[in-house]
Amino acid sequence: MKRTLLVVGSVNVDAVSGVERFPAPGETVLASSYRQGLGGKGANQAVAAALDGARVELVARTGDDAGGAAVRAELAGWGVDVTDVAAVRGVPTGIAQILVDARGENMIAVSSGANDALDAAAVDALADRLGPGTTVLSQGEVPVEVLDRLAEVCRDRGARFVLNLAPPRDVAPRTLRTADPLVVNEHEARTLGLDGADPEDWRLACAAAAGRLAEAVVVTLGARGAVAATCTSSAYVAAPVVDAVDATGAGDAFVGVLASRLAVGVDLGGAVQSAVAAASQAVTRHGTVESYPRR
Ligand code: ATP
Repeated sequence: MKRTLLVVGSVNVDAVSGVERFPAPGETVLASSYRQGLGGKGANQAVAAALDGARVELVARTGDDAGGAAVRAELAGWGVDVTDVAAVRGVPTGIAQILVDARGENMIAVSSGANDALDAAAVDALADRLGPGTTVLSQGEVPVEVLDRLAEVCRDRGARFVLNLAPPRDVAPRTLRTADPLVVNEHEARTLGLDGADPEDWRLACAAAAGRLAEAVVVTLGARGAVAATCTSSAYVAAPVVDAVDATGAGDAFVGVLASRLAVGVDLGGAVQSAVAAASQAVTRHGTVESYPRR
């Protein structure tokens, strides 16, 4: 029987406009293309895990608007259980307004909308579903009180808490210590006092932080791959050299697959190998969830 991965996270509508160049302050430019679709770290990671074969239940909030209905339908289409993706009355679904210029650079403004309606009470309502053998995954796009309470409930119930602290948030030190693992990219790692020039430096930094900052630590290093450490072991997993065309959502592909493998009992080193392989495939295709590999 598949073991369940519970993702507590954000769901957004990504509204993406292609522009020749970014407007200056006060200026309006006409976009040459427009598309909208599923976004948000919680949603992306839930889809990556589902495509990897995990049974995924997403706990999230949308508005009671057309965007909310669309993202719920899209998530269900990718195989994610959306029973706990609730619509909040009178609040808009979270939206990420994204401009992509002719060079492929982007500018993004995120309005959290209904994602801010997730609260500690919603976490308490999940407590009875958590126990040894359950894996919970969350990210920095939900309120800090949700992350702190999730860590507390996972500790009490003996569930595994995987925390992707992206973007960096001011969570309680105890929340970080409960993370098993804490997953961050290089920039986020630096905000936590970790640093490295090359993968070997990063491996040593993670090894020093494991058991102190968090139960286990994983840092993704873009085209170089990722490093991971527990109290007793550490490793560097190089990414294969690929023809990268679009890195959007690569980090979410990595985290979703990592959590999916941990949820079925794969050890951290093995889970990181699978996550690097999946994320490296994702960068060879355009789009976010559309680029994620199916196991
Ligand atoms: P993003 O914000 O673009 O989603 P991130 O900053 O959270 O990503 P990265 O460290 O850039 O995360 O990338 C995550 C993983 O994606 C890496 O560990 C690696 O496995 C894969 N990856 C990213 N870029 C490349 C690349 N150019 N070639 C191969 N693999 C890549």
